Amino acid sequence: MAKIQAIRGMNDILPEQTPTWQYLEATVRNLLRQYGYQEIRMPIVEQTDLFKRSIGEVTDIVEKEMYTFDDRNGDSLTLRPEGTAGCVRAAEEHGLLFNQTRRLWYSGPMFRHERPQKGRYRQFHQIGVECFGMAGPDIDAELLMLTARLWKTLGLSGHTRLEINSIGSAQSRKVYRDALVDYLSGYASELDPDSQRRLTTNPLRILDSKDPGTRSILENAPRLDDYLDDDSRAHFDRLRELLDAAGVSYTVNPALVRGLDYYGKTVFEWITDSLGAQGTVCAGGRYDGLVEQLGGKPTCAVGFAMGVERLILLLETLDLIPDSVNGDADVYVTAMGDATVAPALALAESLRDQLPGRVVVTHCGGGSFKSQMKKADRSGARYAVILGENELANGTVGLKPLRSEEPQRELPRTALAQALAAAFEH
Ligand code: ATP
Ligand code: MG
Repeated sequence: MAKIQAIRGMNDILPEQTPTWQYLEATVRNLLRQYGYQEIRMPIVEQTDLFKRSIGEVTDIVEKEMYTFDDRNGDSLTLRPEGTAGCVRAAEEHGLLFNQTRRLWYSGPMFRHERPQKGRYRQFHQIGVECFGMAGPDIDAELLMLTARLWKTLGLSGHTRLEINSIGSAQSRKVYRDALVDYLSGYASELDPDSQRRLTTNPLRILDSKDPGTRSILENAPRLDDYLDDDSRAHFDRLRELLDAAGVSYTVNPALVRGLDYYGKTVFEWITDSLGAQGTVCAGGRYDGLVEQLGGKPTCAVGFAMGVERLILLLETLDLIPDSVNGDADVYVTAMGDATVAPALALAESLRDQLPGRVVVTHCGGGSFKSQMKKADRSGARYAVILGENELANGTVGLKPLRSEEPQRELPRTALAQALAAAFEH
């Protein structure tokens, strides 16, 4: 019978890869804690309307990428394509935004029906951050400083660059949109097909177009920054001052608009040139209107999401994963002969008591000395502890270094933990 396989674009993350995932996740978690962020965990499935009302009906995500289905009650549900909508829904539902500021983060799988390729999958993972109740550019700056610190911690500083833009208020965008449509309509037949379609559905996205013909038409198009409202302009100017003061480099990209409807004022992307076309590793912006749009009180908000797969690809490509990040054991305890099984299990327990930071693996399943030593080697352990019937009778153990030429030693079983602790010091 044919074996059932995983769904295209949905990856298993295998034991060889999970140490890298854990390294990245732990690094981000520690960093966010340093900045006072609280974790929130939302369901993976939400009502379809939540995404339609927040991301926007005429966006790539809602038009063609969502995994939507009717559940057994006939309700339309959707696997979350991003985390912001669910985070806002949860924060509102539980009164987290009432008269207070919040710094929240989450991580987990997101689902989009896109064409799978390197750095683009149908189930992928994001770590997202959302801040509520802070209107000024100071929190925008803090978010970008936080990401800059993360790249530094991961060794990625020279490999990521920041692009920022202001897309203004909804009102100023509307005026600009009309001007843009006016201008582009004169060239409608020369635009690429996607942009032709967007002229009536989502004209701002045309600014994103990679098509050379469309790009050259855009060169003389009205510019969004000429239409910015005073409030957005002041916000953006101050953000740039704060970034300059903090030493965070950036470029202003007037074409940066982002693909989701809820953004306004600040938008940004961290981009790497080391991953080809899928180069955006972190993206976000301000979305002051969303909470109200979803039925809450007007609440300022700003956030971003990082693509975990892309960051891991980047760390691997640049060979930036520390050697200590692996799934290796530290100590492998063997048990040669039936009588040694219970003592070996007990010995390993006492090692875990005394060396709480170490990975102690006990050999289970019996077998010859040779086969047990082979498994010890494959575990990656630096030391094998040898417990046979002779050692058992003498109250001793053998301590065999597996990664150096040092000879095996025999020592009292009660001295083992100390000897290992000393050995790991070197
Ligand atoms: P792109 O332009 O690459 O499609 P996006 O604008 O759709 O990205 P966002 O919705 O802003 O992406 O999501 C934030 C981040 O999540 C992206 O910058 C990227 O790192 C990651 N991401 C988005 N879609 C995918 C995907 N299908 N597979 C892997 N990572 C993704
Ligand atoms: Mg996309």
